[in-house]
Amino acid sequence: MSQDQATVAEEEYLQTIFWLHEAGLPMSAANVARAMQLSPPTVHEMLRRLEGDGYITRGDDKLIAFTDTGREHAEGIVRRHRLIERFLTDVLGIPWDEVHEEAERLEHAMSPVLEARMLAAIGDAKTCPHGHPIEVGQRHEGVPLADVEVGATVRILRLENEAEDLLHYLKAAGAEPGLTGTLAERTEDEVVVAGDGGERVVLTASVAETVSVAADPSPPPRTALPEQLVIAADRYGR
Ligand SMILES: [Zn+2]
Ligand SMILES: [Zn+2]
Repeated sequence: MSQDQATVAEEEYLQTIFWLHEAGLPMSAANVARAMQLSPPTVHEMLRRLEGDGYITRGDDKLIAFTDTGREHAEGIVRRHRLIERFLTDVLGIPWDEVHEEAERLEHAMSPVLEARMLAAIGDAKTCPHGHPIEVGQRHEGVPLADVEVGATVRILRLENEAEDLLHYLKAAGAEPGLTGTLAERTEDEVVVAGDGGERVVLTASVAETVSVAADPSPPPRTALPEQLVIAADRYGR
């Protein structure tokens, strides 16, 4: 039986499933469990509920697919999350590595009227402060920074994992969407970008897996590794 109002827990799951879909990862129960750092039985129970409420279906291959209602709900919650983050940074002046958890709390309690007001308040901004499109579907693919060869020019498009401890690390390192520079060094452990403004951004190789860039010359496209999307002790961010 379908219901109009998804619960907070259901919204969290729909959001996570949508993130898997956007990242090009298989929408499987195992990946949902990994992304949310929950046990498989817990996830199975909730997937059954989502199926019963008409938000998802599961095929013979066990892969999850959205119903039209489910996709609409998922896109709505993801859009509100990103909009709130942008509002918190641009209008309230909160640093971009501190807005994800706030948005996680606020996104479930937002009326369409407030959403429209916030959208007007952020002006021309098209993405959340971590580079994810507010209007879902307008995503510039990009490649993992970890794949880029030395000497290539890069522009940071997106921080794929929004777990806050990882965002703190990225902010301290100076890695933020919009930064342009040249890939200066790449070792097994580290990736170094020489920013056009003279900054030197040093990231561990595993963190560089979670940063999507536009590069020239560009390595071939590759989906980020699921493990890298849960690199932080915290939940996989969204
Ligand atoms: Zn976020
Ligand atoms: Zn974000």
